[in-house]
Amino acid sequence: MTTTSTHEDPAVGDGPATGGRVPFFPPDLFHEDRDALLRLLYEIGTGADQKFILGDRTRRFEDALRDRLGAADVVACSSGTSALHLILTALGIGPGDEVVVPALGCAPLAAAVLHTGAVPVFGDVDPRTLTLDPEDARARITPRTKALMPAHMFSVMADMPRFAALAAAEGLRLVEDSAVAQGAVLDGTPAGLWGDAGLYSFVQVKSFGMPGEGGAVVTRDEETGRRVRMLRNHGQDGVHRGLHHVIGVNSRFDEIQAAFQLHRLPGLDARLERRARIAAHYTERLAGLPGLTTPPPGTDGRCYYVYTLLADDRDALRDHLDAEGVDTHVYYPATLPDQAAFAPVAAASSVRTGADPAGPDWPHARDAARRQLSLPVHHRLTDAQVEHVADTVRAHALRTRA
Ligand SMILES: *Cc1c(COP(=O)(O)O)cnc(C)c1O
Repeated sequence: MTTTSTHEDPAVGDGPATGGRVPFFPPDLFHEDRDALLRLLYEIGTGADQKFILGDRTRRFEDALRDRLGAADVVACSSGTSALHLILTALGIGPGDEVVVPALGCAPLAAAVLHTGAVPVFGDVDPRTLTLDPEDARARITPRTKALMPAHMFSVMADMPRFAALAAAEGLRLVEDSAVAQGAVLDGTPAGLWGDAGLYSFVQVKSFGMPGEGGAVVTRDEETGRRVRMLRNHGQDGVHRGLHHVIGVNSRFDEIQAAFQLHRLPGLDARLERRARIAAHYTERLAGLPGLTTPPPGTDGRCYYVYTLLADDRDALRDHLDAEGVDTHVYYPATLPDQAAFAPVAAASSVRTGADPAGPDWPHARDAARRQLSLPVHHRLTDAQVEHVADTVRAHALRTRA
């Protein structure tokens, strides 16, 4: 693998104790930062002001992300899921409204909409990018549709130029679920800044993960930022304590985590770069193999949160990798409309939009749910581990198709 050697690059893994396996998630994620974490825990825990939430460190973290992005506002909050809920509420989405979301993706895409009282309408994904298909989304727009909510999936950003044009043409809000895409840029615009608002998740497994729960709303619109800020802390304005202007929630951010994220922010680009290089190497070694589809290559609009293949014999490939010591992950074994939690809502919205709920709806999402398999791509992998993963996938594909 033609990348920086492990000796020159402190961001690269140096062979943690993994029992010889290649772990899907790094077991030593905060290896370089353990001392800083302990120092900050002590400093903040024993600080004279005893300020543990929404203090100076949270503000500085928000400012640092805002400046890095060129956003109007960044509001740190308790999770990516909560960020989605805050955005939808701040945009005034509620009972009687519909929001078009992808049929393949994480539960909060549907649940956050339902928690506002609005209804998610599921659109199929593009078979190549696995993100919401703009044409399919357009076909699901009704007079009740209030917003489009595409999500960036695995390593690929949704087709935001087309969604921005569609939202503008139809007079709809555009919410960008950029939870996994921090650091990605499409056509010069960073992930998170394409619509009315976007978000990042800082839960451990995401690319700017931390040792706990957290997220952030990002927006180009000051007024949306102001509303999200109020909603985050029980509808207060941050100046007059005890005055509640709107019905909010507790989605506050932790000072220790803010300080730790500030400490880790300067290393983020190098870690993302390492992930991108590993992904490019996988694609180089795996593209064109029989029975396998690699993710669309390139760097524009790409975020190497995970590296996801489509494999015709997914379960056999997964077993083979497991036997060779490689941990993998199947993110969404069923589409959202096929989940017990959302099936009734999906059936009802299919009827309203004229689609047949028993018919061949969401064929690409369902196909991807059967075939997707994610390989380890995190920055702590050694070059040898990356090569072992690629060799193992190649051997399986060539053997079974010989
Ligand atoms: C992880 C994720 C979320 C939710 O973030 P949490 O911090 O886990 O609540 C939302 N959307 C997408 C696409 C995600 O991957």
